[in-house]
Amino acid sequence: MDKLLGLLADGQFHSGEELGEHLGVSRAAVWKKLKTLEELGLALDSVRGKGYRLGSGIELLDSVKVQSYLDADVDSKVDVHTCFITESTNDLVRAQGAASGGVTRFCLAEHQTSGRGRRGRIWASPFGSTVSLSALWQNGEGTASLEGLSLAVGLAVVKALETLGARDLKLKWPNDVLWQGKKLCGVLLEVYGDPTGECEVVIGMGINVRLSEEQLKSIGQPAVDLFRVCDKSVSRNAVAGQLINTLTHLLDGFGQGGFRLFREQWCEYDAFRGKEVTLMASTRSVTGRCMGVDEQGGLLLETSSGIHVFNGGEVSLRQS
Ligand code: ATP
Repeated sequence: MDKLLGLLADGQFHSGEELGEHLGVSRAAVWKKLKTLEELGLALDSVRGKGYRLGSGIELLDSVKVQSYLDADVDSKVDVHTCFITESTNDLVRAQGAASGGVTRFCLAEHQTSGRGRRGRIWASPFGSTVSLSALWQNGEGTASLEGLSLAVGLAVVKALETLGARDLKLKWPNDVLWQGKKLCGVLLEVYGDPTGECEVVIGMGINVRLSEEQLKSIGQPAVDLFRVCDKSVSRNAVAGQLINTLTHLLDGFGQGGFRLFREQWCEYDAFRGKEVTLMASTRSVTGRCMGVDEQGGLLLETSSGIHVFNGGEVSLRQS
């Protein structure tokens, strides 16, 4: 499959025969593989007499192109790996392990077969339609120092997408990026290691770049893509590059001063400040008015019994 995609990546037409010759398989076998790719969400043009090519407007990820969008001070600090299909970019970056010399490792995929959200929920990443990006960050200060990191990552995503023309983006605590109440991006942080010392933080994010109406409708909640937000095509390689820029700067800053440094900016994008919301845990829910977040990234909720602080983990926020 990787070889086939490698051949199609040039955007030109290729006949079934030519593809079969390169891959050492029959035309029928090529056709079967192309069908599988279409089932994964890849749009293909097929024209009688010419063959197959990537659907118009599809831009595959390319680490060299991603690197061309990196800021000069970021370029030397990151290692960028792209692949076509993987189970989960969070798992992939973790399996690749930490890079040496203070370099942060980033992995991107065209499609995740088991992309996940919080608490095992499914994250949809149709082939070539999203930017699924994960970073591996090593931190020697223990898990307490990571409080608020997932909120700060949401902010880094907003900043990256703003450089590409997105406007009116909002953050839903703890870290979803919304546009007009629809979800544009999700973030999943996973922490491994010593709660009091050396730990590995896997920072995963999925940004919808361009999905079909049907793909958006099949997601279990209102969702949107960058194409609709910006009212124009946006390069996936540029999205990836800008995300790596803002995330690298964020991790530098977060390592120095934690979420405290980002709290004020986060509050500027808060989708629910002053609004009535319901916080849901697995067995109970509580309703109140959103009062922003504290310096550790905890949500401040005003209820009839006063202001209470809630931390991420098992809690989900919904507008009442
Ligand atoms: P929470 O408020 O707890 O974060 P959430 O429902 O947004 O709730 P996440 O774990 O952040 O949960 O994300 C998973 C959910 O996001 C899925 O259950 C689905 O509703 C939605 N989702 C899945 N794929 C996409 C996508 N590509 N774009 C937008 N939303 C998606």
